[in-house]
Amino acid sequence: MAYHIRGVSSSYHDLFGAQQYQKILVSDTGALEGRGGEFIMNVLEQQIKDYVRGGLSLFWQRQLMFLGATVIVGIFLDLKIALICYFLCLVAEFIDLHVSKQVLRWDGQDVQQAERFLRLLTLSSILSASTVSLYVVLVSRQEGQIVHFAPLFFLFSAALFAAMNNHQLPGVLFVRLVIYGSAFIYIPARDLVIARPAIGSDLWMQFATVLFVLYFIVDCSRIFLKFYRNGLVQIDNLRSERDRAETAYKMQSQFVSVVSHELRTPLTSIKGALGLLVNGALGKLPEKAQNITEIAHKNSNRLALLIDDLLDLQKLEAGKMVFRMDRVDLAELVKEAAASVECMARTMNVTIHCHGTDQPIFVKGDHHRLTQVIVNVLANAIKFSNKGGVVDIRLEMTNSKARVSITDYGIGIPDDARERVFGKFMQVDSSDQRKTGGTGLGLNISRQIIEAHGGSIDYVSKLGEGTTFFIELDLYSDND
Ligand code: ADP
Repeated sequence: MAYHIRGVSSSYHDLFGAQQYQKILVSDTGALEGRGGEFIMNVLEQQIKDYVRGGLSLFWQRQLMFLGATVIVGIFLDLKIALICYFLCLVAEFIDLHVSKQVLRWDGQDVQQAERFLRLLTLSSILSASTVSLYVVLVSRQEGQIVHFAPLFFLFSAALFAAMNNHQLPGVLFVRLVIYGSAFIYIPARDLVIARPAIGSDLWMQFATVLFVLYFIVDCSRIFLKFYRNGLVQIDNLRSERDRAETAYKMQSQFVSVVSHELRTPLTSIKGALGLLVNGALGKLPEKAQNITEIAHKNSNRLALLIDDLLDLQKLEAGKMVFRMDRVDLAELVKEAAASVECMARTMNVTIHCHGTDQPIFVKGDHHRLTQVIVNVLANAIKFSNKGGVVDIRLEMTNSKARVSITDYGIGIPDDARERVFGKFMQVDSSDQRKTGGTGLGLNISRQIIEAHGGSIDYVSKLGEGTTFFIELDLYSDND
């Protein structure tokens, strides 16, 4: 199976290990099969960057290991070998660090650059693996034909370290393991050739153990590689899911917007006509017709409110609501809002009292949207008050903020209802016996509007005793 990547030459496949790479693409689940060049470039970029990030995060750990090995060999075996090899390790580390920094600045778009990075990373890996291997081979030769506890352990640590941390780039891991594996076998095999010991001797046992450990390391690498590949597949699946959800959400949002706009125009004329009929502008209606027309008029108003709410919600969620920020006198705004719900309050036999609105208090905000919020909270306070009740609106300054509190002494909100109060299409009492109408969107929209102003909205309530909603906004400052 061949994958064609924009302008990717064969050297790229060679370096990366074409077979391993295809295995990543054609994973166990087959989920990535047939993906395009852009996807492959993303995977490649992610692998190179994961590799480099992993390497950088272990930088000091590696330095400690090199230093520790140098000290041990320097003290117990040969200082000259220890220092030369330490120097070579530092050179390999320097190259690696240099390439890693370039990789982190890379925007991941250029295939040629990816190839170059792969080449450089492979080269620095060859250098450092060869240095470590040379190091242990020289040390083992110093020791003569004995069981090479220290050198083989060094090699084992280095190989395990590679298996755990180099699996992001299978090509690099493969090169490292081949170099370490060769040194691993060379050390005990050389002893066997020189000493020609009996089959039951320690040297043969050392050789057999080395083969076993080698198998273990290769198996570890395979497992880490598999985990990493599965991770890549899962990340990609999540990305696809997210893209799908985003597309679906956009379509749904557009649908709501188009339908709402289309409904609003005819509804406006229906509402107007019903209004004229109800108010008797077209002549007095028979009593039965008057009743039905009033119900129809009321319901057309509710429908219009719902459509307005839906449009607002859609705009807020799409980040398309435009706020015309100005210096707004909150005292004036509160009085206007109270006046606009006066008629509703009278119908419900509720009285509104304003407090603290004699002095202007300035905030920065969108006059129309802030009015919408306060009217909504006020309308709720009236709606959920008892007949003949009172609603208090209090305006004050607290901690360099303006605070509007709207208190009713009505039915109150149960303790566990916060989610529902500020949720979408949610009402605390959603039963069929509910007396009050509403869309269940008002407070959700209000919260989004207030948060877009950098303010906050919350409430305290006691069931059966009443509720106070607080809206807090930053005061206007001359720097605004
Ligand atoms: P609605 O259009 O239903 O009023 P809101 O989002 O404005 O939608 O309010 C959500 C729910 O929160 C209301 O249906 C009601 O159950 C509850 N609620 C809001 N304000 C009050 C209040 N002052 N007293 C009691 N319940 C309230």
